[in-house]
Amino acid sequence: MRIIDLRSDTVTLPSPEMREAIYHADLGDDVFGEDPTTNRLEAMAAERTDKEAALLVSSGTMGNLVCALTHCGRGDEVILGNLSHTFVYEAGGIAALGGIHPRTVQNMPDGTMLLEDIKAAIRGDNVHYPRTRLICLENTHNLCNGLPLTPEYTSSVVTLARNHGLKVHLDGARIFNAAVALGVDVKELTRGVDSLSFCLSKGLSAPVGSVICGTGEFIAEARRTRKILGGGTRQCGIISAAGIVALERMVERIEEDHKNAERLANGIARIPGLQIDPAKAQTNIVYFELKNDLLTPDTLLTQLDQKGVKFMHMGQSRCRMVTHYGIDSDDIDMALEVLAEVMKTS
Ligand SMILES: *Cc1c(COP(=O)(O)O)cnc(C)c1O
Repeated sequence: MRIIDLRSDTVTLPSPEMREAIYHADLGDDVFGEDPTTNRLEAMAAERTDKEAALLVSSGTMGNLVCALTHCGRGDEVILGNLSHTFVYEAGGIAALGGIHPRTVQNMPDGTMLLEDIKAAIRGDNVHYPRTRLICLENTHNLCNGLPLTPEYTSSVVTLARNHGLKVHLDGARIFNAAVALGVDVKELTRGVDSLSFCLSKGLSAPVGSVICGTGEFIAEARRTRKILGGGTRQCGIISAAGIVALERMVERIEEDHKNAERLANGIARIPGLQIDPAKAQTNIVYFELKNDLLTPDTLLTQLDQKGVKFMHMGQSRCRMVTHYGIDSDDIDMALEVLAEVMKTS
């Protein structure tokens, strides 16, 4: 049975070209700075995002953690969205390992935080308060329908941060999805931010890895932070080799994932018992609500799973499907067929 796995874009398998590149990669000890393939990936990532330097890390979680720990000391405060990945899904790492105090601001349905809310959260100079150091943005915003933040919004937050002497970190796990959806160069979305992280292993479909980017000085310090976390690895060129193919070959095809997500969202809108606003499916993430008194999300999950279609239950009636490399429009039609059939018989 063909399995159509729409749980996440993290389930992608490396392309044949990636496996080939991994096999032939030139390798060295990256803790000594001697892995030529990793050095090449880092230079390429810095160039793409218009930053001075970059650093390979094991995961998006590690990327955000390394950046936060590099920007902030113990007792410092970071302003971030109440629905941000870093606040919700990273095991409280910034607090657990960095003593960094998270100050949440409400995320709007489009993934932004209101500038006035951010401004109101910035602390004055007072011995009672933690010191505000950093503002975190997320683009695309995972829990907010995978929506992209615009260059204009990003630059308005950067300006606000500058005016208050704060740094900005961008969790750009899916920043290339944002760039493709908005039809802009990724540089437009990274302009002015002090650091960013992006995932090689999601829409770009590499097997492992994320990259953080920033100034040369920041990345030198981040290299030290990564070492503290046990993230200094040796012949990581086997990972970087796939990452290079990801950046060179997998960015443009993201358009296809977005078209498939749109097709999926429009199809779901036609199925009785499911609720969705298809206009919100602008990238590769599709959220919908199950509105059927006889069927719980967990039952739906099991029934679809038995028919080879996998999705994720996000709590209450919220369900998520994500399109990615390895999923084509026939798979979308098949998934919709199975979904419609299960909904009809329940
Ligand atoms: C997936 C994700 C991460 C973390 O990536 P991992 O590689 O799974 O640790 C960070 N931020 C966002 C927005 C994500 O979607």
